[in-house]
Amino acid sequence: MTFSLDARIYSEIGLVRKNNQDSGYVSPRLLLVADGMGGAAAGDLASAVAVRALSQTDEAHQGPAMLEALAGSLANANDEIADLVAWDHRLVGMGTTVTGALFDGEQVGLIHIGDSRCYLIRDGELTRLTRDHSFVQALVDEGKITAAEAADHPHRSLLLRVLNGEPSHRPDLALVDVQLGDRLLFCSDGLCGLVNDHDIATIVGIDDLDAAVRALVAAAHEQGGSDNITVVLADVVGQSEQLDAAPARVVGAATTIKIPDVPIGSAQLDGGAAAELRDAEGDPASRAPVPGDLGVSQADPDVREALIDADGEERLRYAPTVRSKRRSWIGILAILAGLALLTAGVGFGGKAYLASHYYIGPNDQTVAIYQGLPDEVLGFRLWQLNQASSVRIDDLPPYYAQAVRDQRITPPSLEAARTTVAELEQKARICIAKRAAAAPQPGGVPSVPGVPGVPEVPGPETPSAPEAPASSPSDPTSPDPEACA
Ligand code: MG
Repeated sequence: MTFSLDARIYSEIGLVRKNNQDSGYVSPRLLLVADGMGGAAAGDLASAVAVRALSQTDEAHQGPAMLEALAGSLANANDEIADLVAWDHRLVGMGTTVTGALFDGEQVGLIHIGDSRCYLIRDGELTRLTRDHSFVQALVDEGKITAAEAADHPHRSLLLRVLNGEPSHRPDLALVDVQLGDRLLFCSDGLCGLVNDHDIATIVGIDDLDAAVRALVAAAHEQGGSDNITVVLADVVGQSEQLDAAPARVVGAATTIKIPDVPIGSAQLDGGAAAELRDAEGDPASRAPVPGDLGVSQADPDVREALIDADGEERLRYAPTVRSKRRSWIGILAILAGLALLTAGVGFGGKAYLASHYYIGPNDQTVAIYQGLPDEVLGFRLWQLNQASSVRIDDLPPYYAQAVRDQRITPPSLEAARTTVAELEQKARICIAKRAAAAPQPGGVPSVPGVPGVPEVPGPETPSAPEAPASSPSDPTSPDPEACA
């Protein structure tokens, strides 16, 4: 090695969060920050998975091989998150940022996804080496808002890219030459989301690494300390065998979360194991500031918990307006990303995603096929009417009528949606006939109107009743979905 790294690492819960979902890792060759998110959906697990996976790259790599190793390990972490979500669907929504670098003595190989950051401080000048994968950064890039406006934007926490098990994860990768005297800062948004770059530049100029870290964390506290704070600060120094032999250090959630060993393709659990896993959050040890304590003062834990709903705020990073009943949809992040890109006019991934989804919903008083998702994000509709029908919702069995009103029927394709509407039409005809037959007639004798497609009035147990749409939800509270009354 031409140079060595003299590094510090620190992570803490912050002043208001209920637990620390950040994780960090530092060694003579590898620097990492991961900011887990997802509220109760185990963001701490996601960040711990990322750090564990990327720590596998902590060996001698040179130049572009550093990027290959990091990208491979990040893909492994993503797969592992996907397996965990498949194992327990209540983990859907968990994700993590990852910002880190391998060091080969002359260059750093950077990997980045999310809104944690890496800064280079050279000759007293601070340069951001990463670009936030956030909604507001996209708006800034488009010239729609200024950087100052982004700092106060109500959706500044909304991310467009994170590591969340989706196959479309796309990290940024870069090789950067380093010089003697350079300083590298990696941090979660618990620091850079609260303290502006100008102030960070001033503070990070403090010579002593420990003092600089303490000052950075104190600055985040002064701004409210509303998020977990993780900082890695490293100086590029002359080669040192002692520094090169320093042991790796891990901080944050990765030190407290037990990552379950989930076999690929494992069946979904009923939650016992996952609940046990999340119970670790209740362990005071997992809430305490992590090792590497540099003496930064913290507020009383009771005060922290009283200030905000930390989990609720973390959920906002994923889905600011998506209704809770849809939160289990794996594509939520892709939807948000796609929408933001669409509104910014810079992308097509979201449009393609929405174009491939259909649902059955109400069109005034009738049944209709919609393309997209029955939600709005940031005031923008994620759906459009694809095909209307003449099937009146009130003519359907109450179970199906409610399913249509609730937009719970989600056929996998347009063809399947059309088939479903045809089936609903048949159910409506049956109910029309049944209700007409049951209605009192002037002469006291029930009559059966000629209803196309209904040769006779079927009884309640008729075997000819159409099957429920394959994609309709099974509702155990409805004993007879076909009942017309
Ligand atoms: Mg954060």
